[in-house]
Amino acid sequence: MLRFNDIADRVLEYNPDGDLRLLQQAYVFTAKVHDGQERLSGEPYLIHPLEVAGILVDLRMDDLTIVAGLLHDTVEDTLTTLEEIERLFGEEVRFLVEGLTKISKMTYRSARVRQAENFRKMLVAMSKDIRILLIKLADRLHNMRTLGFLAPEKAQVIAQETRDIYVPLAHRLGIDWMRRELEELSLRTLKPEAVASLEQGLKGRHKEREQYIEEVRGVLDGKLRDAGLSAEVGGRLKDLASIHAKLESQGLSLDDLYDVIAFRIVLKGDSAALYHALGIVHDTWPPVPGRFKDYVALPKPNGYQSLHTAVIGPYGERMEIQIRTEEMHRAAELGIAAHWRYKGRGGALEDDAKFAWLRQLLERQGEVDDPHEFLDTLKVDLFPDEVFVFTPRGDVVNLPRGATALDFAYSIHSEVGSHCAGAKVNGTMRPLSHPLEDGDRVEVTTNPNQSPKKDWLEFVVSGKARSRIRHAVRLAENARSRELGRGILEREFRKAGLSLARLLERGELEDVAREKTNGSPEDLFAAIGYGKLASSDVVRALKPEWKKKEEKPERPARRMLPFFGREKPRSSSTGIRVNGHGDVLVRFGNCCSPLPGDEITGFVTRGRGVTVHARDCPISFGLDPERRIEVEWEEGTNAARQTRIRVTSRDEPGLLANVTKTISGAGINISAARIATHSDGTASQSYDLWVGDVRTLNAVMKQIERIKGVRSVERVRG
Ligand code: MN
Repeated sequence: MLRFNDIADRVLEYNPDGDLRLLQQAYVFTAKVHDGQERLSGEPYLIHPLEVAGILVDLRMDDLTIVAGLLHDTVEDTLTTLEEIERLFGEEVRFLVEGLTKISKMTYRSARVRQAENFRKMLVAMSKDIRILLIKLADRLHNMRTLGFLAPEKAQVIAQETRDIYVPLAHRLGIDWMRRELEELSLRTLKPEAVASLEQGLKGRHKEREQYIEEVRGVLDGKLRDAGLSAEVGGRLKDLASIHAKLESQGLSLDDLYDVIAFRIVLKGDSAALYHALGIVHDTWPPVPGRFKDYVALPKPNGYQSLHTAVIGPYGERMEIQIRTEEMHRAAELGIAAHWRYKGRGGALEDDAKFAWLRQLLERQGEVDDPHEFLDTLKVDLFPDEVFVFTPRGDVVNLPRGATALDFAYSIHSEVGSHCAGAKVNGTMRPLSHPLEDGDRVEVTTNPNQSPKKDWLEFVVSGKARSRIRHAVRLAENARSRELGRGILEREFRKAGLSLARLLERGELEDVAREKTNGSPEDLFAAIGYGKLASSDVVRALKPEWKKKEEKPERPARRMLPFFGREKPRSSSTGIRVNGHGDVLVRFGNCCSPLPGDEITGFVTRGRGVTVHARDCPISFGLDPERRIEVEWEEGTNAARQTRIRVTSRDEPGLLANVTKTISGAGINISAARIATHSDGTASQSYDLWVGDVRTLNAVMKQIERIKGVRSVERVRG
């Protein structure tokens, strides 16, 4: 068990001016107020604050942080008050303890909402003092180390939360040992069987691996020494979580001896020695192209610096090597703590700019009101992998890996993103969805008429872009739903002999709106537009004798129509849902005649419902994008729709019969056919078909294509 004297000794090692008296006082106070309390393990509660303080010492934190670590549970779990803390330990300690207490005190409806709200509060507290986060991390780490005493379901929840939020936070703070340990502990709880079999598998070839590591170390040691470089060469098993991730994502097998090992060269001296050593490595074994990463010249946002390379090793295996200076190594392990300066009481960060990401996260949280969404974007922002690109002026911008030109635009400024109309990557025009790669030079153009599109959400990856786009789309959708609902209601009113305009004028809609939506007539329109409320209900509220909307007749079963028949198959439904609502007046664009299964988009027309076009219909591109609305085919719709295909073939007897037989054989009705023969011995045939969905059509077109003598089959649009 960790004792207070151990903590005191270690603090003095790195911070000789530390206030030992205060530390001791905090220890005695904690021991007193937690006296008689036990942890789930059955051990005295005091062990927990002591261990948390010990972890803060590992992080080389200042004395006040350690005092706060010792006291972190006193206000929450004992009768201690914040005033008492302030009186005994001062304002700064009170501030830290208060920040921590606020985070855990809140109770919320669901675990997820609570989690999201906790993080919001935590971020606010952190923004005032990052030490609050470090104490929180230390608290979590000790709880993870003792997770085994918790009921399994509870442990799962905590492990999941740790993996989602605390692991990325530790990573962002650059504290690699903590990131590794938290990640491994959560993996052990979340996937116990996988970890057990992984460890079993790794045991298998332990000896061979040790030999291999020794061999490589020997070679590197010798070569570096010959070059006059003083270095420590190490080979080690990669961390469990990353081996696990690799096994899952790439389907590797553990028999692949080398994939689980990474080598590290830690050099005395400055970064010049690193490139010298890199040259020696590449001279010894050929480098794997594209695997060299210079995080020395371009450090990761968390401050991490190293050279990474992969080479083809002595057995033709891929070997990963990191090269860094001693100073960089220390920084990689300690992270933020390596930038801590001890001056007077407490301490201060030398380089605040390193944690600009934290402030950016905070600035944005005001824009996100849905806690789920907040958590979602937070996770993206905390994600470890980055890509570096350049502005036209040569400034470095780092973005999450997979980021697109549009993410870049949003990273420059929300307004640049919202109005982004085009992108040039390395001088070439690219779509906004173009994924960026390290070193790309990106330039974007804006257009005041451009506005955020829902489709953009399909490719942007950064939290900032996602939350800004969602926000804008939601606003636009609300406006459109109101307009749509207003149109639907207007029509329904007309049928019932009412006038919407007059009712609005006289304020006679106010009561119904309040009754149905708890809001204004505008809210009423929105509810109808979103499909939450039926327009006929509103009419009945004003005119109770108005008949209930006729029940829809059952959809007729699909039946064969007479060959070459002209009859349109009866179908009561258009098979389209607008904003999730199936009861909306819908017309189809004659220009593109979309079929069920085609990608579609809708446009609101005032009073005439929604017009549906194919996504790629050129006519629809000319329509006002502000009137665009989400439409989708109703699941399993068999509302047959008319479409036309053109078949070009040799002019041969029997061929025409073959084509029509193929079409009707697929259960498709032909409503019209035209055949023209040409002097060059070819024939063009055009068929108007009633087809249930695009898959059937595609299948039959493929079949026609295979008929001997057929040159081409195409769908005719417009
Ligand atoms: Mn605690």
